Amino acid sequence: MSEYIPEKALFIAAHPDDLEFGVAGTAAKWVKQGCEVTFCLITDGNAGTHEAGVTAEQLAKTRRKEQLDAAKILGVQNVEFLGYDDCKLVNTLELREKLVRMIRKYQPNVLGCQDPTNVFPRADYINHPDHRAAGGAAIDAAFPSSEMPLLYPNIDAEGYPPHKANYVYIFFTTDDKVNQYVDISDTIDQKIESLRAHTSQMGDWDPNDRIREWAKGSGKQVGFEYAERFFRVTLKEPDKPEVGVGKKKNK
Ligand SMILES: [Zn+2]
Repeated sequence: MSEYIPEKALFIAAHPDDLEFGVAGTAAKWVKQGCEVTFCLITDGNAGTHEAGVTAEQLAKTRRKEQLDAAKILGVQNVEFLGYDDCKLVNTLELREKLVRMIRKYQPNVLGCQDPTNVFPRADYINHPDHRAAGGAAIDAAFPSSEMPLLYPNIDAEGYPPHKANYVYIFFTTDDKVNQYVDISDTIDQKIESLRAHTSQMGDWDPNDRIREWAKGSGKQVGFEYAERFFRVTLKEPDKPEVGVGKKKNK
């Protein structure tokens, strides 16, 4: 098993806490290896409560603060909020343009996003429509809009030239598509801590046991103690080769 360590990575998600569930171990690991990581949150998660008396504005403020705390735990250098409303996200041309701006601004080798095709992860669960809309908008921005010089001259004029990422790492995906595992054994503690930072969402639930169980299940596939898993799409082969990592367990 080999692993690619990008110089720059941009992870895009619908809600504060999605990235901690999906990619936090990978993000923390890449930061440790010298990667510049950016988190981009499309909505403020400002409908995510059952608590009486909390307004959407108060919740947005709380969740931005929690997201910044989580990013700090992971060492993530940049956090961008696009300020859309929770539960109302649609893959529009307006959103695509905002994401093209993010890609051109940060020039990532790896773009991470949610799987827009994952509607029914299980027989008892529907994947959140915001997750699907966010993923759809991100992949539509990644290809081909962000690389086309005739598109978005306004963004070019802001000093952000066209860019094509090497890879798209799709998370919250289904078993049949997974083709990439990242060993997060050294960063699983940071991942759990970063989830705890989302106190408004965790309530009485402590993420420790469940997150370890999930990451262990993913790691088992490839002989890692703990792993995060992705469907990786190659847009352009990177100049920098992958490096060999980990030990594959003997079957
Ligand atoms: Zn979410």
